[in-house]
Amino acid sequence: MAQRILEPGEIETLASRDVPRIILADRDSLFAARAERLRALAATSAIGDYLQLLAVLVDAQHAQLAALRPERLAELQSAAMAQQPPAVAAAGMPPLHAASLARDDEWRSILRALCRTCLEHGGFPAEAHGVLERLIAAPDAWLDAQADAVLEVPGAAAIDAVTAPFVMAALQVYWTALALAFKPTDLAPMADAPGLCPLCGTPPVASVVHARAPHSSYRYLSCALCACQWHFVRVQCSHCGGVGKDIAYRALAGIDGDEAAAARDAAVRAETCDHCHGYRKILYLEKDPGVEPVADDLGTLALDLLLGEEGYQRVSQNPLLWQASGD
Ligand SMILES: [Zn+2]
Ligand SMILES: [Zn+2]
Repeated sequence: MAQRILEPGEIETLASRDVPRIILADRDSLFAARAERLRALAATSAIGDYLQLLAVLVDAQHAQLAALRPERLAELQSAAMAQQPPAVAAAGMPPLHAASLARDDEWRSILRALCRTCLEHGGFPAEAHGVLERLIAAPDAWLDAQADAVLEVPGAAAIDAVTAPFVMAALQVYWTALALAFKPTDLAPMADAPGLCPLCGTPPVASVVHARAPHSSYRYLSCALCACQWHFVRVQCSHCGGVGKDIAYRALAGIDGDEAAAARDAAVRAETCDHCHGYRKILYLEKDPGVEPVADDLGTLALDLLLGEEGYQRVSQNPLLWQASGD
């Protein structure tokens, strides 16, 4: 029997069928690992004090997610699922679409609880106390308008950059709780929007190359909201789809000043694109098993400064460090 040789496109199709496409966040470890990583990075960071305070906020996120009782969690999940007719899911729309899902009031309770925990901690500076007290006292309608703003609901109010990280922190807990209703096999990357989260439609904060089977050496984009990770081919811009010579990797030079060696060996690099002049960070678990998308993105702000000076633009925000647009 004659053997037919596979064309390159067919080989890729066969290969991608075996790739586990989705990795969902783990309730017990997501925020705990992030807080631990923030503390580890704080020890050697120029913004160490700031990272330590963020670790307090992330600890509070962990506590809020852990405190949701099973009945309450099931109630929130079924209310969210009921909003999506099956036909929409079948059409490839994200089932927990951030910009259109009607949120339960629970998200505001989570926000106020996060703020109270941070206030009680006592380590936050006076200006932050003012922000936290303002959030606790804010009318529900204002908080909902701010949630709409950070979730990019069309026609939303302007983002209040000072309160946005706390608002986003509460929304992360809420969306992560809803995401627990899904199994990886329920989802697949969106064919017409491969750079957006297939669960909630949010852009990724960074990407991660995994080091352990069955995900080993595959690259996943990591959602800034629900922490879902979805497969995305390597050496391709996750913003515009640019490939080939437009893609390059940058990292901060080590103490020896060798930037080329750093770009090869660093556990956190920036994947730059000369087609759209954008970039996102890419993390390598093989180089450092502790890297975490939100924490390590914040831990490498010097790389953002370097790339900004060279005319590259960040293509999405870090959920815990909001910059007003135009900054
Ligand atoms: Zn998501
Ligand atoms: Zn691009």
